[in-house]
Amino acid sequence: MHDGHHDVRRAREIYQTSTMGALIDGVYDGDVTIGELLRHGDFGLGTFNRLDGEMVILDGTCHHLRSDGSARIADAGDLTPFAAVTWFRPDTSIPVTTSTDRVAITALIDAALSSDNLMYALRIKGTFGAVRTRTVMRQQPPYPPLTEAAEGQQESTFRDVEGTLAGFRTPDLEQAIAVAGYHMHFIDRDHRQGGHALDYRLEHGVIEISSRSELHLSLPRTPQFLASDLTSESLAQQIHQAEGG
Ligand code: ZN
Repeated sequence: MHDGHHDVRRAREIYQTSTMGALIDGVYDGDVTIGELLRHGDFGLGTFNRLDGEMVILDGTCHHLRSDGSARIADAGDLTPFAAVTWFRPDTSIPVTTSTDRVAITALIDAALSSDNLMYALRIKGTFGAVRTRTVMRQQPPYPPLTEAAEGQQESTFRDVEGTLAGFRTPDLEQAIAVAGYHMHFIDRDHRQGGHALDYRLEHGVIEISSRSELHLSLPRTPQFLASDLTSESLAQQIHQAEGG
């Protein structure tokens, strides 16, 4: 029931469908629609069924970036095998006024956090000297594991570009549920290009941080997810290989 008051519990929650471990194992078809996803947040990232490109959700709009460089707004009926969203309300802002690389940006964020053990939604908006991204490519069943699928990924470098990095900093305790550490997707100001961020340099802009302590994990009931072996001991290494920058 909506009584006009801000729903604090809902506002502090990250909603996620499936797990990074399942994606690593090649579970590329999910059962959650973009319409459903957007009921749980207005900000986030993910991918689409068949691993068809990268997802960036900003201001309630779900953007679909494909490996051929095309960009579109996702349909409400499109499906995702992995995505995480939240209602983005920043509680900390850090202005950046000089050219700062990714390592220094993450150090700034690390220093501003109250704890390593919470989840943080992060939005970095500004002018970037360079952003290097990758975009995963649509796969055909039977699906290869992500480490193999990622070998065919398209890499791009955008220079002197305005845009936004959207994503999360996830505690180590969630490794295999999500990507432990930083996971950011980039989209330019015109929403025409971007992808999973591998590296970047921010010339000037603002870092916004919002802590989260509730995780709503929605597991798929697709046959492939149900039959997957998600106990791999080398999962952390595989996630780093497939997602690392
Ligand atoms: Zn990603």
